[in-house]
Amino acid sequence: MLPGYTISKIIDALPDIKISTESEDLVCYGFDASGLEDRPSAVIWPKNTEEIVKVMQYVYQNKIPVTPRGAGTGMTGGSIPLNGAIVLSLEKMNRLIELDTNNLNVVVEPGIINGRLQRELEYLGFFYPPDPASMNFCTIGGNIAENAGGPRALKYGVTKDYVMEIEAVLPNGKVITTGVKTSKGVVGYDLTRLLTGSEGTLAVITKARLKILPLPEEVITLLAIFDDLEASGTAVSKIIASGIIPRTLELMDAETIAAVENFKPVGIPREVEALLLIELDGHPSAITKQAEKIAEICGSLKADVKMAEDAAARNKLWEARRSVSSALYHLTPTKINEDIVVPRDKISDMLSGLRKLSEKSGIKIVNFGHAGDGNIHVNIMVDKNDVEKYQMAKTMVKDIFEMTLNLGGTISGEHGIGITKAPYINMEIKTNEFDLMKRIKKLFDPKNILNPGKIFR
Ligand SMILES: Cc1cc2nc3c(=O)[nH]c(=O)nc-3n(C[C@H](O)[C@H](O)[C@H](O)COP(=O)(O)OP(=O)(O)OC[C@H]3O[C@@H](n4cnc5c(N)ncnc54)[C@H](O)[C@@H]3O)c2cc1C
Repeated sequence: MLPGYTISKIIDALPDIKISTESEDLVCYGFDASGLEDRPSAVIWPKNTEEIVKVMQYVYQNKIPVTPRGAGTGMTGGSIPLNGAIVLSLEKMNRLIELDTNNLNVVVEPGIINGRLQRELEYLGFFYPPDPASMNFCTIGGNIAENAGGPRALKYGVTKDYVMEIEAVLPNGKVITTGVKTSKGVVGYDLTRLLTGSEGTLAVITKARLKILPLPEEVITLLAIFDDLEASGTAVSKIIASGIIPRTLELMDAETIAAVENFKPVGIPREVEALLLIELDGHPSAITKQAEKIAEICGSLKADVKMAEDAAARNKLWEARRSVSSALYHLTPTKINEDIVVPRDKISDMLSGLRKLSEKSGIKIVNFGHAGDGNIHVNIMVDKNDVEKYQMAKTMVKDIFEMTLNLGGTISGEHGIGITKAPYINMEIKTNEFDLMKRIKKLFDPKNILNPGKIFR
């Protein structure tokens, strides 16, 4: 924690800005979905860019660490204020500033909730494709900082594919605007892409222009139920190899299905090994043919395929999918969650490797995720209080990453490095590239005051 007199000086220096040192705020802003927690020395809620400039100028001069925070739904500890850092909460900056339907883009403040933006756009006949399963409670600023994906990434890509322009405040308080208002632009280095996925370590994102799309004419949702887990992985690669790109291809294994059925029942049979939630969008006749083809592929792998009859049935399935993370906490009080990605044609190999690892260790591993992207959320279900087993589970993380990299994959598809994956980053990023990253961080933040302790240990 920073000394009390330092905090009093900050409060005096920033008289018009909302700051709290109340313990209920320090507790509530000290954790995220990673399960880690630490106490900030204070929480600041700026209302606009000018206030962030004032905060950053002050903390830069006085070398005070600051951690930007959206909604705290991050899975790797990115918004945890280490060593008493001050939390800079962007939640009050949540306006939709401009909607340009002629040029298909929207300008927002970082604290806007992804789901709220989705609802406002859908009402007007548009959509913003990145749809993390946490969309009803995560912010666009957090999505940009993590380069978030979601089920629709398979067809539409991830956050970086939709960020056109960013306004951000550098650690020294200077304001920058990166990117273009146009659909193309190649002038200079692409700082927009650099900031997207920078995990709050380079600059505070204060505004963004995002690309939007017209809503598709029709959506078809299929549920394919498998008696064999590896067969579901094979189905994923066969569907893609057949030339069809569904907008989602989500996997849930037997344990995930059981957990969801206990938590939020939707009537999925419990005695199955896996399911795929497949969604197609586009022209009705084209996607009807694609749905038939997918049913044929899954049928050849002995799956039972059903179609959601209406929007209500579709929403029920998606509600179940989005509740997976919460449902799993009913299996064990803690879990170690990884979000590895392997090439699509290696999903079956990865799933059988995970099964073997679970059998060998006697520790349950539950898998679900964006299988169409090869992005599997691997959950090692273990109670933190069982010290011996928890230690074993932590060793398994390294085994899982090794298996992933040997299959040509990456150790994080969307959750980032934060704190939890920092010890493993060098398994994937080699010395020269890592040095370059550290030098970029130093260039933006020479005093290491912006979200210190994240990405780089
Ligand atoms: C149930 C559940 C489901 C999830 N599903 C998905 C999913 O499908 N896909 C996916 O990608 N992720 C998913 N996540 C992870 C998480 O929701 C995303 O990483 C999300 O982008 C985090 O947004 P946030 O607003 O909560 O950010 P926070 O957790 O508050 O912060 C995340 C990081 O961004 C930084 N940050 C936040 N705002 C700013 C800003 N304005 N400027 C600079 N840095 C900033 C923080 O410092 C931190 O490093 C899920 C999480 C949960 C709990």
